[in-house]
Amino acid sequence: MAAFPRRIVLCFFLLLILTVPVLAATAPHISLAVDATEAPRKIFHARMTIPANPGTLTLYYPKWIPGEHGPTGPIQDLTGLKFTANGQTLKWRRDLLDGWTIHVEVPPGAGDVEASLDFISPPGSEGLYTAAASATDKMSVISWNTMLLYPAGWTSDELTYEARLRLPAGWKFGTPLPVASRAAGEVKFKPASLTTLVDSPVITGEYLLVVPLAENPRREMDIAADSAGALNVPPEVFDHYKSLVDQAEKLFGAHHYREYHFVYSLSDHVAHFGLEHHESNDSRSEERALVDWQKRLLAAGLLPHEYVHSWNGKYRRPADLTTPDFEKPMQDDLLWVYEGLTSYLGDLLSARSGVRTPEQYRDSLAQIAADLDHRSGRSWRNLQDTADAVPAMQGAPHQWESWRRPLDYYDEDVLNWLWVDTIIRQQTHGKKSMDDFCHLFHGGQSGPPEVKTYTFDDVVNTLNQVAPYDWRGFWTERLTNHGPGAPLAGIEGSGWKLVYDETRSELIRTEEEQQRRISAEYSIGLKLREDGDVTDTIEGMPAASAGIGPGMKVVAVNGKKFSADVLRDALREGKNSSAPFELLAESTDYYKTYKIDYHGGEKYPRLERDESKPDVLGNIIKPR
Ligand SMILES: [Zn+2]
Repeated sequence: MAAFPRRIVLCFFLLLILTVPVLAATAPHISLAVDATEAPRKIFHARMTIPANPGTLTLYYPKWIPGEHGPTGPIQDLTGLKFTANGQTLKWRRDLLDGWTIHVEVPPGAGDVEASLDFISPPGSEGLYTAAASATDKMSVISWNTMLLYPAGWTSDELTYEARLRLPAGWKFGTPLPVASRAAGEVKFKPASLTTLVDSPVITGEYLLVVPLAENPRREMDIAADSAGALNVPPEVFDHYKSLVDQAEKLFGAHHYREYHFVYSLSDHVAHFGLEHHESNDSRSEERALVDWQKRLLAAGLLPHEYVHSWNGKYRRPADLTTPDFEKPMQDDLLWVYEGLTSYLGDLLSARSGVRTPEQYRDSLAQIAADLDHRSGRSWRNLQDTADAVPAMQGAPHQWESWRRPLDYYDEDVLNWLWVDTIIRQQTHGKKSMDDFCHLFHGGQSGPPEVKTYTFDDVVNTLNQVAPYDWRGFWTERLTNHGPGAPLAGIEGSGWKLVYDETRSELIRTEEEQQRRISAEYSIGLKLREDGDVTDTIEGMPAASAGIGPGMKVVAVNGKKFSADVLRDALREGKNSSAPFELLAESTDYYKTYKIDYHGGEKYPRLERDESKPDVLGNIIKPR
């Protein structure tokens, strides 16, 4: 620096000051045209125009997808990739260190690069979230992140996309993305930042039902189904979702969206999950999930959970999950708030709104508690690690789930946040609750989407504002302990007890029937499918101790051909016998008899009222 004359250095700085705003003002404006007319074939075509300079243009395919908590961008389904400039085909090469990065050689004189690409939506259950099956003969969900590239060097807030979408003939659509115009078969959207575009899925289909839930701001359901019959929904179902919207507003005291769309797919041929957005959620259930009461019961938690995310996850977001684009890795250490608190509040709202009855809410809570109470993997792996490991482990199979530990920061934190709610109520003699935390943490001023980041300290400080307590110590212990047993203090502190008896709850019966499985995990530590396939065994419980493991197939019980009833009979009869009962199982082509020394009968969880204490849980789920 000393070698430069002072005047030149000054000029250099002036130049810098003058050019920075100019550069910032020229963030690329990209046009994107998606052709979804071949959705039933599960192939989508996209064309983009990207401003570029001669040299190397580095483009990213979105990799870390908000809400998916991992590098799940379906790069293997990005196909047909071609680049041209001035009618000339350009050379491109994938980055050797990151497969989601593409380098394009732009020749001198080229202004815009035209990119064309195809996205193949996989059939069946391959892929995670938006990477999984998303199109059928009658409907589709467009997740923009799967159908675009973006240039390096800009944040997703800085890049502007002007999107157009062609739909199959006769298909209608719903989306939170503001529409500029629509003509025959094509929708033109208003320019939006890349952040907003990726946050705004489009649902489209031949059978599409729009259900208004509330006005000022507008809240609606946009439901596409594989049949007209699947949309023949009893009106009280929508009354409960109207109440959900109302109860959420009361819980948080404000909202952070311009309008809100429940983008809901009903199909047996798309992947089933929920993905949160600021102004919508992309939720997908079975075709008859709104018309068949059993399927409705099993899907009851989905929409309340995803709706809560508009506040908890999108508006309030862990700093470690708030990244400038979709390339920078996300860190999942605070998922116990992002997902755990969302699960607690979503379940609570499902009861306050009537989406679940109080009994259905308690059955679900009992099952969560019982499952966590039988989680053998907690002996080696703490709760914090189930969140930290998500980018590496979220696609793990169900086999060995109990020993590996699945995504326990969802369910175990339902129990922990209930515990927090009861502590707040005890400390403040019933004057404060988690509702006060939600007002402070998620409320504020209503308005369009914005992101307010937080850290562990912010959570502890807000809890202390509601009720002074050793919250740092509480959460440190909850996140790092190794059990044994589930944290049941919230259930017990709210006037209830987790008990086991021989009667299956409505929820467990429905799950067994609908999901074709058998719940013997609370008695002998054995999870099976209806046909005898063992999906999991719980380490230390009778089936595992006898030598049975996931992947085997039970074919007979005490010499009789296997069925759910035959197994249940054996469990019941074992109570009056000191002899073990026998399971014949097939294991990698070999048949072997396993002796189960168990005499405790059938066992299923439920919550029982503790009359020595007030019914705080009843108060927690009472409509506001
Ligand atoms: Zn969630």
